[in-house]
Amino acid sequence: MKTNQKILLIVAMMLIGLAIATITNVALNFREYGYSNAIEKSQMTAEIVRDGLTAHMVSDVMDKRQFFLTNISHLKNVKSLWIVRSDNVMTQHGLGLGNERPRDAIDVKVLKDGLAVQKITENSKDATLRVTIPYIASSFESPNCLTCHNAKEGDVLGAISMEFDINDIRQAGAMTIAKIFGINLLFLIVALWITNYYFKPYVHLLENLQQGIKRARTGDFSYRFKTSLKDAGSEVAEQMNTLFEKIEETFDGIKHDLNTFMSRSNISCADPLNSTGLIIKELSDVYKFKKTIELDGSKEEIYDRFIYVLSERFHFSHFALYEIEKQSKLRKLIYITEHESFCNPIVDQDATQCRAYRTNSDIYSTDFPNLCQNCTLEDKEYTCIPFNINDDLALILSYFAKDSETIERYNLSLPSIKNYFEAAKAVIESRTLMDKLRDSSLRDGATRLYNRRFLEEFIDKTAEQALRSNVAYSILMIDIDFFKMVNDTYGHDCGDIVIKSLAEILQTSVRKADLPIRYGGEEFLVLLHNTTPEGALQVGEKIRTQFGAKKYHFGADTVTKTLSIGIAHFPSDADSIWKVIKFADLALYEAKNTGRNRVVSFEPRLFPGGDDF
Ligand code: GH3
Ligand code: MG
Ligand code: MG
Repeated sequence: MKTNQKILLIVAMMLIGLAIATITNVALNFREYGYSNAIEKSQMTAEIVRDGLTAHMVSDVMDKRQFFLTNISHLKNVKSLWIVRSDNVMTQHGLGLGNERPRDAIDVKVLKDGLAVQKITENSKDATLRVTIPYIASSFESPNCLTCHNAKEGDVLGAISMEFDINDIRQAGAMTIAKIFGINLLFLIVALWITNYYFKPYVHLLENLQQGIKRARTGDFSYRFKTSLKDAGSEVAEQMNTLFEKIEETFDGIKHDLNTFMSRSNISCADPLNSTGLIIKELSDVYKFKKTIELDGSKEEIYDRFIYVLSERFHFSHFALYEIEKQSKLRKLIYITEHESFCNPIVDQDATQCRAYRTNSDIYSTDFPNLCQNCTLEDKEYTCIPFNINDDLALILSYFAKDSETIERYNLSLPSIKNYFEAAKAVIESRTLMDKLRDSSLRDGATRLYNRRFLEEFIDKTAEQALRSNVAYSILMIDIDFFKMVNDTYGHDCGDIVIKSLAEILQTSVRKADLPIRYGGEEFLVLLHNTTPEGALQVGEKIRTQFGAKKYHFGADTVTKTLSIGIAHFPSDADSIWKVIKFADLALYEAKNTGRNRVVSFEPRLFPGGDDF
């Protein structure tokens, strides 16, 4: 039911209720008033009859009373009238004219009790008021009843019974009720019309507002409110229109700006307001992510945040993140949730074997069975996404799920994930550049080995960690014997060749955890991780032998060179790493002094200064 109809119904109900109450009240009052009038009339008649009869009695013409009674009974509305004698009077004065005996039970009762009776008899056609009033003997009245009647004070002498036609009272009442009903009906119609006239525009405005707000909830603010009202209603409509115009303008602007984002986002457009909220939330998350990684010191920290976002924000439970160095085509695993890679190991050595990297396109296993030949997953669905950082670097995100439904759900997050990667691209690029610059300042350009600066920057931290975690290091100090001779005899370039060949030997003869460093011109330092003195000696010997066996062809000459190596151990020889380096240098000096082409381990005798270091 419409609001307008509801209001009219409520008003009508209220007015009808009021009319019923009024009519009922009037009807009851009218009836009461009519009946009390008739009763009063009957009492008056009874008194007239009594006085008339008394007058007849006093005038001694009692036997002529019939004329009087007949005339009285012809009064308006009197249907019948009779008088009744009490037994006492009948005994004293006889039965009276005609039949003046009690005619019915009411007569008998009134004669007996001395109390008047009024009774209304009504049916649909007729309405009669029956009144029987007793005549009581009294010595106080004039004439004194007791002088003529053989009776006591208060005895019932007789009664008068009358029947009045009260139909006209009833009709008059019905007429009045009909008139009141008519007036009420008219009032009801007028009231409803006025209500409708005044309320309709408000109701219309309300319905308008309802419709406009309903559309606004779906992001459509094009609705404009109209009203015929001139008061506050028109102000409301105007203000709502201004508000909607403003929101529409702003919202259109936002929508336009977000459209580019929407195409890259997985947020649905079903409810634009909601979508806008979600997009803004996502933008804000991506912005916060970007701001955070901008302050991260290294590429590795940024990768850690990606991993956090993937597992905590997107709830990926099986995924791997790889970094590809485009020049070397090497693929490095950054993180994996599983125990082993779900790619064929060949991909790590040759990134072009990675379908996502080679084709630079998203790989969805749901597109085609056995899509990537190098995927080792069985009965699983996977997706691999390449992210190009720059000409040197690319990232690959791979994830899998047990069924196509789950992977499709993960795939829905892809546009958002790409937003994160896009935001990180520039930061990763700059961190890579910084790493490169830093790396180049910490490496020797000719041999690509770390230089002395690197050692100075990192050795203290490494030593601290080694002490904390009970890790031992051996230091090999290496110097080419009579190197100056090469420079002097064959030139500087030949000297460089020898230096580079030693660097290669060092790199290949130590483990990954060990660190060869170009310490000075033709001096090298090797940091051996967790090696026993015997093991260190073996490594030193191995290096010395390999280098000694190497032949150089400079012009017509075939040249061989030798090395002298000094070894010291941290922390067994000294608890300061710099002291150990010094000891290794002393051992090298000893090797030089004792014939060169030798490996000498440090002994305390080589450092007579004792603790003065
Ligand atoms: P020894 O060590 O056996 O006592 O004799 P040495 O002739 O090797 O003497 P030393 O170690 O003092 O010689 C170092 C020489 O190495 C001096 C310098 O000219 C040369 N040198 C240092 N750096 C380079 C380099 O990068 N290239 C070349 N070609 N020579 C270098
Ligand atoms: Mg030297
Ligand atoms: Mg030398």
